[in-house]
Amino acid sequence: MLAHDVLIIGAGLAGQRAALAAAESGATVAIMSKVHPVRSHSVAAAGGINAAIAVDDDWTEHATDTVKGSDYLGDQDAIEVMCSEAPGEAMHLEHIGVTFHRNETGELDLRAFGGASKKRTAYVADITGQAILHVLYEQLMRHEVAVERFEEWFATSLILDADGHCAGAVARDIRSGAMEIFNAKSVILANGGNGQCYKPTTNALICTGDGISQAYRVGCPIMDMEMVQYHPTTLAENGFLITEGARGEGAHLLNSEGERFMEKYAPNKMELASRDVVSRAEQTEINEGRGVGAHGQGIYLDVTVVPKKRVLEALREIVNIGRDFAGTDITREPIVIRPGQHYIMGGVKTDVDGRTPITGLYAAGEVACVSVHGGNRLGANSLLDTLIFGRRSGEHAAQRGRQLTMPKAPASRLRADAEMIAAIIERPREGRRISEIKDELGTTMNEYVAVYRDEEGLTKAHEVVQRLKEQAGKAYVDDRGSVFNQDVLGALELGYMLDCAEATIVSAIDRKESRGAQFRLDHPERDDEQWLKHINVTRGADGEPELSYSEVTITKWQPEVRKY
Ligand SMILES: Cc1cc2nc3c(=O)[nH]c(=O)nc-3n(C[C@H](O)[C@H](O)[C@H](O)COP(=O)(O)OP(=O)(O)OC[C@H]3O[C@@H](n4cnc5c(N)ncnc54)[C@H](O)[C@@H]3O)c2cc1C
Repeated sequence: MLAHDVLIIGAGLAGQRAALAAAESGATVAIMSKVHPVRSHSVAAAGGINAAIAVDDDWTEHATDTVKGSDYLGDQDAIEVMCSEAPGEAMHLEHIGVTFHRNETGELDLRAFGGASKKRTAYVADITGQAILHVLYEQLMRHEVAVERFEEWFATSLILDADGHCAGAVARDIRSGAMEIFNAKSVILANGGNGQCYKPTTNALICTGDGISQAYRVGCPIMDMEMVQYHPTTLAENGFLITEGARGEGAHLLNSEGERFMEKYAPNKMELASRDVVSRAEQTEINEGRGVGAHGQGIYLDVTVVPKKRVLEALREIVNIGRDFAGTDITREPIVIRPGQHYIMGGVKTDVDGRTPITGLYAAGEVACVSVHGGNRLGANSLLDTLIFGRRSGEHAAQRGRQLTMPKAPASRLRADAEMIAAIIERPREGRRISEIKDELGTTMNEYVAVYRDEEGLTKAHEVVQRLKEQAGKAYVDDRGSVFNQDVLGALELGYMLDCAEATIVSAIDRKESRGAQFRLDHPERDDEQWLKHINVTRGADGEPELSYSEVTITKWQPEVRKY
């Protein structure tokens, strides 16, 4: 059995930032990732990170934009923490070696992003996530004594002790198939999101909601799960992301009649309204027959209006993506995009120090719901969220560990997980394949739990998910070995995704109003009277989701009509 003050599950930006903070606060740390850390989804983040560092900007304006962006569902005390600490965090990144883009006078350059009243997004061309992730990984190397890295290890479940406090996790060494107990005084979940519940999605194959489901299975509430972000510009063919940085640099959206249709929906902010607003506008144009591309299911993103020199300097990755994955030279012609699943605002309920309602269990990054994004996240606020709340969780968990002895992690849990995995491997080759079930889940979610929703579609999706849960319990895997058996891990991931999808659907059915990313065709208005509250989902004794509500924290921004 291994023992550390802090166990961090996930080594994207949230996990690595938490590990650094915990080590610098004197804790012994284990950080685990099911892929090599620099292959975490954070590496794909393109557009940038928000911080009010311009001379004419102020963190309170950043907070105002974030509250409005959240459609007033974000908790304002948490938003204040994130926005006020952002400039310090950005400077910290720059000091440890992130090569942010600079302007002619040598200051950090900032680009415009959706829903922001000022240029506030610091960036490294369109590889910002990669740039930050690699610098943090270098920094982790400096702490080799305090931080033990477990790369290509897969956490299978969380362990609670006799008092119901988190005492560690069970994990499998993917390379050998060996199982191990990781005993810890505190566990920080940093597993990222669950975009793979949808097909297509901009998210990496590893974004399967493991942390959300594992927390849920030990009784932790998950919150705001109905709030799923569709990004306005994903490739129509395969869901690859075209960064919001393109519109930030001035690109236009056009319908089949060549109109910049955002004039109708958001005359002040145009293409740079918040993502929920732009995605809905696009979907309306498509539904009303003004789409472009195959079956009229797309919209044109016209980057040719941005000077070519600037495109090649600041948007070079999407030039490559357009060429390689759509056969389009975006410097010469418009590219066909459409709204696509991108991010989940919901996740494991935490406070501003990352603490969940379960003692000793923390969460930070996309897996968590603080809630700073409420009904809709602003572009470039997620990298910020991972770093601020990753650091705060790491510091808090390290401090907590000083007063504690190691909790007891029952060894029987290792056997239970090992047997559960062996049983999956031994299933007879009948029933459905894991990949088929995953495919049906993704296409169902994309059909009924997308930009526009209604009771009928959501109910249908719920029925499908319940059937898929049954089928997943009997689905078989082909690989019966122990070395790099990704097949059996895929079966576990499918279970996590189905938990997440079910929580999303039951919350979306429950919320009978339209707010942020949830637009109900059968309840098209926002209803502050009834629904200015978070929906929490916990797992009931019968294994079914149970709903409860918690208040939205309002400090100084009263809900107003939201217009861009
Ligand atoms: C294409 C794309 C572009 C984006 N661009 C931007 C942007 O420009 N600006 C912005 O602010 N946001 C952006 N986002 C959102 C942002 O990148 C993510 O929300 C954020 O990086 C998530 O970081 P994380 O640390 O929470 O999780 P991730 O980076 O997803 O890392 C999750 C970690 O958990 C590990 N893990 C998961 N399950 C297990 C398990 N069972 N056992 C062991 N390890 C496990 C994984 O191996 C990984 O290390 C973008 C997202 C995408 C998909």
